[in-house]
Amino acid sequence: MSSSPANFYDLPLEELRKLAVRWAFSPVHAARLWRYVYLDSVTAWSRMPELPARFRAKAEAALVFALLPVATETRSTDGFTRKYLLALADHRRIETVLMRYTGRVTACLSSQAGCAMGCVFCATGQMGFARHLTAGEMVAQAVHVDRVLRGSSEPERLRNIVLMGMGEPLHNYDAVMTAVEILCDPAGLALGQKKITLSTVGIVPGIIRLADEARPVHLAVSLHGATQAERAALVPVAKMWPLDELMAACRYYSTKQRRRIFYEWTLIEGRNDSAETAHAVGRLLRGLPAQVNLIPLNPTAGYGGAPANREAARHFQQILVEYGLPSTVRQRRGVDIAAGCGQLTTSAP
Ligand code: SAH
Ligand code: SF4
Repeated sequence: MSSSPANFYDLPLEELRKLAVRWAFSPVHAARLWRYVYLDSVTAWSRMPELPARFRAKAEAALVFALLPVATETRSTDGFTRKYLLALADHRRIETVLMRYTGRVTACLSSQAGCAMGCVFCATGQMGFARHLTAGEMVAQAVHVDRVLRGSSEPERLRNIVLMGMGEPLHNYDAVMTAVEILCDPAGLALGQKKITLSTVGIVPGIIRLADEARPVHLAVSLHGATQAERAALVPVAKMWPLDELMAACRYYSTKQRRRIFYEWTLIEGRNDSAETAHAVGRLLRGLPAQVNLIPLNPTAGYGGAPANREAARHFQQILVEYGLPSTVRQRRGVDIAAGCGQLTTSAP
């Protein structure tokens, strides 16, 4: 019995219970261990007095708490955003962002080291794909942010998560859904129904699976173009899953889940911010349970476009209103520390 220890953060509570039973202990101890870790932020075995010593010894030999060390922390000048460069066990790195705006605190988690989707205006896409993250590596990012918040001068718990950091979550479906299960467990961090928003570039089979499986997440779909040709020029995977298939999958999701979808639209000056384009978006989404999130382009090293100006964004919104579509313009936060949408990247270690 020399198998290497499992990462605690990879295990849903049910798996931990099964382990306890396999070790010939009551599953009650698994639940107590879970609460120590996720509710009390305790990971030192010596500080878990309510667990029997023999159970602790067994667990200590079989499990590790693979927290992710902070390589660098950067804070935006306005104080609203912090970005953490976190080190993975294989020395790759990922970024996690803590954002404070619109009266709430949100952690933006990465789902992959890099990204294989190659969207032209995205720094993560520009760096290419290194590997999928494990469920435990995603949970550890949330645990890190939760610990930061608990340790702050006005302690609070993490309540909102967006899976909008590095990577394409539906390209790493199983690990992402295990992480969601762990994060939502009411006995732990309890990020219950609707506190997690997952953004996808438009992986059609993933959207259909999500519709069928009823996972406790909000869905955001990155659109950026209202015709197949315009979209494919910005989002190369549109060639694999064309716009009409994507919209059919979105309609299926909304009908099956009875949920609105957020459609994200990165506003690029002179490219997709015109009144005609806004009308095309209106025609495309009219009648659907939808909200459009407009994101003025953030700068990245590999793409020369400019963000739409405020006037163009406002006009775009006004046109969407004519089609009965609510929209928001994403506040630009963290851009001075390259922590805005699409700006996350890490140079190879
Ligand atoms: N991979 C997922 C989630 C991460 S990106 C996805 O693509 O949806 C989160 C959002 O930021 C997406 O809508 C993405 O298109 C957008 N984005 C990427 N690069 C950007 C940039 N430079 N400026 C503004 N938004 C960007
Ligand atoms: Fe990947 Fe999303 Fe960036 Fe596209 S926008 S390259 S899918 S992280």
